[in-house]
Amino acid sequence: MPIQPIPRKTLAEVVAGKLAASILDGRLQPGNQLAPERELMHEFVISRSTLREALKVLADHELIEARPGIGWFVRVPNQSNIAKIHKLAAGEREPVAAPARAASADIPTGPRRLPAAPEKPLRIPNLHTDRLGTFDFISWWEREKVQQARVLVVGAGALGNEVVKNLALMGVGYIYVIDFDTIEAANLSRSPLFRESDSGRRKAEVVAARAKELNPAIHVQYLHGDVITQLGLGVVRRMDVIIGCLDNREARLAVNRFAYWMNKPWVDGAIQELLGLVRVFVPGQGACFECTLTEEARRDLAVRYSCPLLARQNVLLGKVPTTPTIASIIGAMQSQEALKIIHGMPVEAGKVIHFNGMTNTMHTTAYLAREDCESHWTYGEVVELPLRAETTTLQDLFSIARADLGADALIELDQELILALECPHCKTIESVLQPLSEVSFEAAHCPACGTLRETQMTHLLTGTETFLNRSLASLGIPPLHVLRAYNAQEYRFYECTGDLDEALHFNHFEESANHPRTILRSRLRLGEEVQLAETRGNPARGRVNLRP
Ligand SMILES: [Zn+2]
Ligand SMILES: [Zn+2]
Repeated sequence: MPIQPIPRKTLAEVVAGKLAASILDGRLQPGNQLAPERELMHEFVISRSTLREALKVLADHELIEARPGIGWFVRVPNQSNIAKIHKLAAGEREPVAAPARAASADIPTGPRRLPAAPEKPLRIPNLHTDRLGTFDFISWWEREKVQQARVLVVGAGALGNEVVKNLALMGVGYIYVIDFDTIEAANLSRSPLFRESDSGRRKAEVVAARAKELNPAIHVQYLHGDVITQLGLGVVRRMDVIIGCLDNREARLAVNRFAYWMNKPWVDGAIQELLGLVRVFVPGQGACFECTLTEEARRDLAVRYSCPLLARQNVLLGKVPTTPTIASIIGAMQSQEALKIIHGMPVEAGKVIHFNGMTNTMHTTAYLAREDCESHWTYGEVVELPLRAETTTLQDLFSIARADLGADALIELDQELILALECPHCKTIESVLQPLSEVSFEAAHCPACGTLRETQMTHLLTGTETFLNRSLASLGIPPLHVLRAYNAQEYRFYECTGDLDEALHFNHFEESANHPRTILRSRLRLGEEVQLAETRGNPARGRVNLRP
């Protein structure tokens, strides 16, 4: 007689295991009543006390429940006890079933399960303690990628609310929100993160704070400011994906250029009444946002830029009627596209998805990429300098640029610098020296006669200016910006990396402010290579300015 291994389980545990196996096999369904005690005693050849011990084991594992005066019932297995069932049932499943399955494994008898991705480790989440647990059941979901992802959300209105909400729920680890607007009553009807008591507060701040509330495990940062002039390119450079939640063409054009320059994908969304569209743009892959502009739109933008002060004014006006429902739909699609980009999954770059909520139709069309598009330009290697925009003078920057590029180095600003305002009527000239964004439309009018004055401005600096002692910040350079210098042969790109800790920390609303910074530092790669998509030596390229 062969020697049997000594069972480590008690008889009651063995019986409990057999009953658990019956639940797994489906012979006992959730809600089914167990057979009466006498029948079970007979089936397993055990005493009443052993049976009751076995039932207690199952009850303790939340697999069955007693209904007083009726009997025992099978509970619905949930994600927290499914692992326990398997453990209990281990070794107790019907021995005949296994070899039979093995023998028939190669016979195609119906739809077969897809093999689990071998690179994805099997994780059995604890759904009581792990808020992201169910995502692990999605075959392609990679928790680490999502938790390490850095997403820039431009705009904290209706779309921005939806997008940031989704990103926070999905556990996207690092979210940066920028918006220059404040909350008013009309925003409350389509912004789930805003409360009535938020009236007058900054949209970006409130959205970031509420995202942190929704999921305290993520890291958030906000900037109350204008993306066109106040966001350092070094922020864009350290993002994985940018999501545009904008309502105007000027800001989209700026985001498009920044994304292209820093070689980052961006997801645009637009809504109006029950219509919406989503577009993914990836540098070097098909059309970009600027490619999609019609001749009329280009002319319109060019006219506005011919009077830059007026252009800025107009951006603040255009309001488009939308519903919270279309914002949810389009914001959800944007979030999903970003999620796919984070996972390195294919996206349809250079195409547009139109959604018509009136007819419930959706269609995708491809845009034509324009050969002569002004946006198609990617920065080369960025030199990280231990400089800060606040304390570095224009002279300092010229010293560095000249050491690299020679005496004829020029520095090209992203926005116009207003040097003076001249009244054609009074013939008076007022020296200004302020970035365009800081001169209001009203201030541009002559204080004496009220005429809109002509602006003298420049974006190209030669190093012979009278204001070389001015700090970069006072000339409109945002913290952590990447500046461009060039000579007749080449471009150089300099980042004010000394601003990094203050400009990009993701620790707003953190209880312990030091925690995320260590992660941030370890992720920074010095002298990161950026592929040149195309090298054309046109010094006028890149500025947010359109030919008429
Ligand atoms: Zn383009
Ligand atoms: Zn005047």
